[in-house]
Amino acid sequence: DARYLLDDAHTTVFSSPFPQHRTIRVWLKRDSGQYWPSIYHTMSSPCSAMAYHHDSRRIFVGQDNGAIMEFHISEDFNKMNFVKTYPAHQNRVSAITFCLTSEWVISTGHDKCISWMCTRSGSMLGRHYFTSWASCLQYDYETRYAFVGDYSGQITLLKLEQNTCSIITTLKGHEGSITSLWWDPVQRLLFSGASDHSIIMWDIGGRKGRTLLLQGHHDKVQAICYIQLTRQLVSCSADGGIAVWNMDISREEAPQWLESDSCQKCEQPFFWNIKQMWDTKTLGLRQHHCRKCGQAVCGKCSTKRSSYPIMGFEFQVRVCDSCFESIKDEDRTSLATFHEGKHNISHMSMDISRGLMVTCGSDRIVKIWDMTPVVGCSLATGFSSR
Ligand SMILES: [Zn+2]
Ligand SMILES: [Zn+2]
Repeated sequence: DARYLLDDAHTTVFSSPFPQHRTIRVWLKRDSGQYWPSIYHTMSSPCSAMAYHHDSRRIFVGQDNGAIMEFHISEDFNKMNFVKTYPAHQNRVSAITFCLTSEWVISTGHDKCISWMCTRSGSMLGRHYFTSWASCLQYDYETRYAFVGDYSGQITLLKLEQNTCSIITTLKGHEGSITSLWWDPVQRLLFSGASDHSIIMWDIGGRKGRTLLLQGHHDKVQAICYIQLTRQLVSCSADGGIAVWNMDISREEAPQWLESDSCQKCEQPFFWNIKQMWDTKTLGLRQHHCRKCGQAVCGKCSTKRSSYPIMGFEFQVRVCDSCFESIKDEDRTSLATFHEGKHNISHMSMDISRGLMVTCGSDRIVKIWDMTPVVGCSLATGFSSR
């Protein structure tokens, strides 16, 4: 399970793309433009998560055995000194975040818990257990809210205190395990990607429970990154798909699926509606749902398929016949761009200020992408691609 991070200010990639070697490596960009490994450290157990804090040059590496190791990187990036080990989890560490102001290192793991530890003393401050593996983590530094995604498909919002925590709410919407989370503290939006191939945007700041569904991937969504400046969401899936979503337009919420005992178009009973089947002497039909209006419909009343990008459906989905008629050609204009990663992406990280993206594949290859043509960040920050 390889991990990497792209340093914000230096052209440096920290990576451990070779799990069987159990190493953490620092790659430096040489004058030739090529990246070369400068230093590495061998770990006792495979690396499973990583957090790098640029200003203090501290790096936290979580391992399969549950421990987190902290290192300090020298100013010239040619030395890596071991600082301490944190007994964070009983099992694989899945995500780490470091908060300098509170001096906390917060992590989630496959022992079903979130733990937060003091980086000064190295001691455990608090822990909270979930009912399934905690797979990803986002943290709001100002309010101390932690978002934890888990294997059951649930996201828990907790407020962390010095030694305790309280559960604020749980977010349920995915039909598969949560594989990635992204919190935008400015617009107060939470994005979640899941093994059900979908992404959900949770409008936390709006306080009205508004959610937007984004369906454009055909495999597990492995990583997401929201670019606040341009209001674009970048997402990567396990099949190598890279999507850039335009979030700067007013999108529509996908409807709740309605329940009915008979087709809401032709009124024929569904097969479990024995009474009506008996009364009308008709055979029950299979229930489907129109993705646009949410009505429960039979197959005959929903023969057509259409994309509907304003609701997040970038590929063709089932719609009822009347909804199909209502969708105009211009409504089918895509609101995302799709790109080929050409390897099975397991992780992704972005250096938003320079418009660079790093993908790491199950093929153990680390790719660095110039995303400025699609995300257009360079205009705002003065970065020019070579
Ligand atoms: Zn029908
Ligand atoms: Zn419909």
